[in-house]
Amino acid sequence: MVDRPPRPPRAETRDIVALKQLRVDQPELESAIDMQIALVDMQRRVQGRVPLPWIQLDPEWMRLQQAAGRPLVRFRDIPLEWSDFRLTFRQTADILQRFEAIERTDHEKILALGRDGNALEPLVSGWYEATSGVEAGTDPKKRAASEAPPGLDQVLVLALRPFLARCAEALTQRIDLGNWNHGHCPICGWEPDFAVITPSAERRLFCGRCVAQWSFAALTCPFCSNDDRALITSFATRDGRYRVYACDVCRRYLKAYDGRRTERAVMVAVDTIATLPLDAAAMQRGYVG
Ligand SMILES: [Zn+2]
Ligand SMILES: [Zn+2]
Repeated sequence: MVDRPPRPPRAETRDIVALKQLRVDQPELESAIDMQIALVDMQRRVQGRVPLPWIQLDPEWMRLQQAAGRPLVRFRDIPLEWSDFRLTFRQTADILQRFEAIERTDHEKILALGRDGNALEPLVSGWYEATSGVEAGTDPKKRAASEAPPGLDQVLVLALRPFLARCAEALTQRIDLGNWNHGHCPICGWEPDFAVITPSAERRLFCGRCVAQWSFAALTCPFCSNDDRALITSFATRDGRYRVYACDVCRRYLKAYDGRRTERAVMVAVDTIATLPLDAAAMQRGYVG
């Protein structure tokens, strides 16, 4: 037998290194961490193949969209290569099923949708149009059709992320989002699912679909715009690293990384998982994510 030198491990991203450290620090989160590592690794590989799109935006149209609180990315702007998307869709569903985030029967139904070339394309474009609110007259609060298998929204959000993240990357380099003061994403219209408090006490929200970020008033609810401070409940972890803002009007909450008290920058893929115990605490108080 010939001794071969061991193959050098593939370079790990900061996110994956930090997630592995988290698994040591918080072993009770192991399953959620392993699922996140699988998703982050898969999305990173896909995103590396997706070209940075050149999105042509007419300045007047852009001004009108922003004034109306509508996002900027139309479905046709997304650099979707269908065979690559189909693979990403299937792999996402497989990861969620492996970690029991979706049921086996729903997993099968979702895979069947992915295999049917005639079904998937209109499903994805219709879902994006309905949930982004990019076209006038659509309601972004609407989610996948009610007859859709549970978990389909989650699979679509995660599978579209590498493609939409490239749109966010391309646009945020070129345009100023400083005037955007809505609770939903200026790029794709989805809701925030995490936030960071900057050292200057500004709050920035992260989109739960394309991971774009934008500034938003620290004590206003991004889900219902309630800005009565007496009706915003805020509490922090004991080490002060993370904070929850919960709304006593719509009962929803948003977690944040408190950059005023920490040395490293926010890492959304890691911090959303590290704060799973905070979700439990918020839900125990009757709030919903
Ligand atoms: Zn977005
Ligand atoms: Zn609210």
